[in-house]
This record gives sequence, C-alpha cells and structure tokens, in this order.
Amino acid sequence: MTPPPTVTPEREDSKRAEAFMLPVMPPPLPEAPSAERIAELSAEIRGLAAQKNAVILAHNYQVPEVQDVADYTGDSLGLSIEASKTDAERIVFCGVHFMAESAKVLSPEKTVLIPDTRAGCSLASGITAQQVRDWKAENPGAVVVMYVNTTAEVKAETDYCVTSSNAVNVVNAIPQDKEILFGPDMFLGSYVEKMTKRPMKVWMGECHVHAGIRPADLQKMLDDSPEADLMIHPECGCSTSAMEYLACGDIDPDRTFILSTGGMIEHVKKSKAKKFIVATEEGIFHPLRLAAPDREFVPASDGAVCGFMKTITLERLRDSLRDDKFTVEIDPAIAERARVPIERMISITA
Ligand code: SF4
Repeated sequence: MTPPPTVTPEREDSKRAEAFMLPVMPPPLPEAPSAERIAELSAEIRGLAAQKNAVILAHNYQVPEVQDVADYTGDSLGLSIEASKTDAERIVFCGVHFMAESAKVLSPEKTVLIPDTRAGCSLASGITAQQVRDWKAENPGAVVVMYVNTTAEVKAETDYCVTSSNAVNVVNAIPQDKEILFGPDMFLGSYVEKMTKRPMKVWMGECHVHAGIRPADLQKMLDDSPEADLMIHPECGCSTSAMEYLACGDIDPDRTFILSTGGMIEHVKKSKAKKFIVATEEGIFHPLRLAAPDREFVPASDGAVCGFMKTITLERLRDSLRDDKFTVEIDPAIAERARVPIERMISITA
C-alpha cells in the first residue's frame, strides 16, 4: 500500500487553498486569546460578514470562540447541508479541508473560503484518488463505499459516501453478490463488517486523534464512575474505534450511547446521569456545557484533540473574511462526479 502524502509547509503567497498538499500531522495548538481580544475580534468578524454577505459555518470541534461567532455550528454533514441552502454570497467554512470541499461541490456558484490552509485531516490524507483507482482495477466490478472524510478527488472515484450513522444501512442495501471496497477508516470498516456480517475489503486508514482512545480505558472509566453514561459521537473518525469496541462487546452496552452532536445535547438534557464520559474530540464540550451547565463532562481520552481543527483562530477567520482567502477550488469535472456520492449520502441520511 502506498504511504500517505508527506507534509509540505503552508504558503501564504496564494489565496487558493486547493494548491497545497495537506499535512498529515497537525501543527501546534494556538494560544487562547483574552476575553477582551475575543470581544474585539468577534465584533470585527460580524461586521465583515455583514459587509461581505458571508455566512460563517463552524464545526463542533472548532475552538469555542470560533463556534460562538459563527452563524451555524454542527457536524460535517449538517454544515454541508447548511452550505447548500444558504443565500449568502460567501461561505466561510471553519472546519477541515474535505468539509469545505463538500460545501463547494454542493454550492459550486458560491465563493467557499477556509481560513487556514493547514486544516487538513489525517484520515482524509490516508487515501488518494490514484490509490482508489488502483484498488478498483485490482477488484473489477466492486462497489466503492467511502466514509465522508475523503478529498473531492477520492469522492469522484466513489459510489457511495457514508457517515458513521448510515454506513451499516448503505452496506446492507448493496446486492449481496457485489464485492465492497470500504475506506478509508479501518475501525469503521471493521464495525460495519461486524454489524452487517458481511466481509468487505477494508482500507487500513485511521485518524491520529483516536489513537489514544482504547477499550480498556473506556470500560475502566465506566467501572470507576457507576453514575456516568458513555457517549460516543459517530460523525468523526476519532470515535469510530470506540464504536468497534462496542460491537466487539469490549465495553458495557447498557450505559453506552452512540449519538450525533445534536443527539448528545438532547441526551444530556433528558438523561438522569450527572456525569458523562465523552469519546470524541474535545471541541464538543463547549456546546455540551452550554446545553447542560449543571452536569459533569469528562473526556474519554485527554489526547483527543484535533490540531487541524484548532488551526482556525479568530484572527485567521477575520483575515479570511477581510482578504477573501483561502478560496476552495475544485476542477468542475471532478466536482460533478464527487457530487453523486455526496448527494446519495444526504438522501440516505435525510
Ligand atoms: S479528528 Fe481525525 S478524522 Fe476528525 S478532522 Fe481531525 S484528523 Fe480528521
């Protein structure tokens, strides 16, 4: 198997985000700004957004101050749907690059901006379009099913794009006599194989963030906190390993909940539990604490921080709006082919 692309440095001399090879490992985390600085920059950002007719979309794993200044927050699929519906001229996507690409694929007539060109994704970087073409050539007639964390070029080679929450249904809907090539997340692939009892060829990719989340740690946390629920978010690669541990019976199913971001917020409002162990990227704690300030939230792993998501700061968001950078551009022929599996994913999810 060919290794993933190597790291190349960020270039500030261009306003196009697509010109860069996205990094495999994230840059260091930025320092948190003071409350005064947050207020000052947030006011400037809202003024620029109005002036430029821009909508700001922020993934739930962005730093809190970026989530707070955005028009909409959500997961990658929800934000893509939001991007396809907006009347704004510009979409500023505070998330990682493959998400901004999906917004551009669904809204090709709009200007889509990503504030930091280093906002890659180690999972999406783990498979290239050429690797998919080679894989298909080795398995003629196979159906290609890819997790949403892939580049537009990979999506253009894909039959079905899936989220973690609909992957099992999609695989079940594919005729039994068809071979399935599933990528790029090996944990999600293994989980889907167990749930559907259907062997697939699974690409051995993974997200670096979930490396620290292990089943023994999760079960020990449940044992140590009998009053706690364990919540696993299914929409990002950092938690698909925990889903697989659940399917294997390595963690207690009675107190474990696989939930979307909205589902987590609803769950904490109605659950009797006072404490929640959360197995996903730490950005989710901000909306959870806003929704249920009287509850305790504990990370399943201290290491579950996505440095790619945290590259986007208020300064960079302000610069993006002010200077129209960095634009996300996709070859129209690739975008047209990539739209097919994305629209299938949305129609299956809706
Ligand atoms: S947490 Fe992992 S899968 Fe999610 S964006 Fe970051 S690197 Fe990609």
